[in-house]
Amino acid sequence: MDFLFRDDDVSYFTKPEELQDAWGWYFNQKEAKLNLAVIPFVSPVEFSKTGASEEAIGKNALLVGYLKEKIKEKKVEIILHGYSHASCGKRFEFESNNPKELSDKIKKAKAYLEELFGVKITSFVPPHNAISAAGLKEISRNNLNLLSAVPLNPSKVGFSFKKHSAYFKRLIFSIRHRKLLKGKFIHPNLQVLHNMQYLDCFNFLPELFTPQELFNIVKCVEQKKGIFCLSVHYWQLNESAREKLEETFELIQSLKGARFCFASEIFKARA
Ligand SMILES: [Zn+2]
Repeated sequence: MDFLFRDDDVSYFTKPEELQDAWGWYFNQKEAKLNLAVIPFVSPVEFSKTGASEEAIGKNALLVGYLKEKIKEKKVEIILHGYSHASCGKRFEFESNNPKELSDKIKKAKAYLEELFGVKITSFVPPHNAISAAGLKEISRNNLNLLSAVPLNPSKVGFSFKKHSAYFKRLIFSIRHRKLLKGKFIHPNLQVLHNMQYLDCFNFLPELFTPQELFNIVKCVEQKKGIFCLSVHYWQLNESAREKLEETFELIQSLKGARFCFASEIFKARA
């Protein structure tokens, strides 16, 4: 079974030590692969910091050096996580319905990260897992796949057979397994929308799910021949949360054929 770890919100403000504290144990594993959702030009306001209106991640030389090393070791894949992560009023960044604005942001952000880290970026995580119809279309137009927990609610992303079908499949699966999921939602399989592939992610909620309960969800997804992506924030990994994550990892590792993947591998494999 293919399994992904996704970590969000890495930006100019991230210290390498924070990532090392959160993931050092994982990087020591033989086949560890971590999908890092990176904000290229972070908005300080969004993260209760002070500074210029946008802070480019390239200005944090220590972090860039650390990430380049992890990329070289094939431990980290860079995923695009919005442009600045800034919300506008009640709308999150990629809930905008202005296609040009979103397309310009994706192009600039993607080119910047690709140049900075010497990589090719093929996946996108929308800030706050929130996206509009225009956002979906522009991500696809810019040849990115989607790694997110987007409900694809027709009232937000517009009506189409494929989007509707994905929305209702997610709803039906989650209602059927509501006890196991404790009311949370997930779609176990890879989907195709526009020209992109989309994998639903499950948030790491250590206060709600024990490692065994989370593992039971993974096994349920496995039975559906699905792929499981666990979405984590490095800043939530205090000692207790980290221990639970390690325990979850060990349980998943015990599954026959468990494989920890980069997003590009699962999307490419099924393209
Ligand atoms: Zn985020």
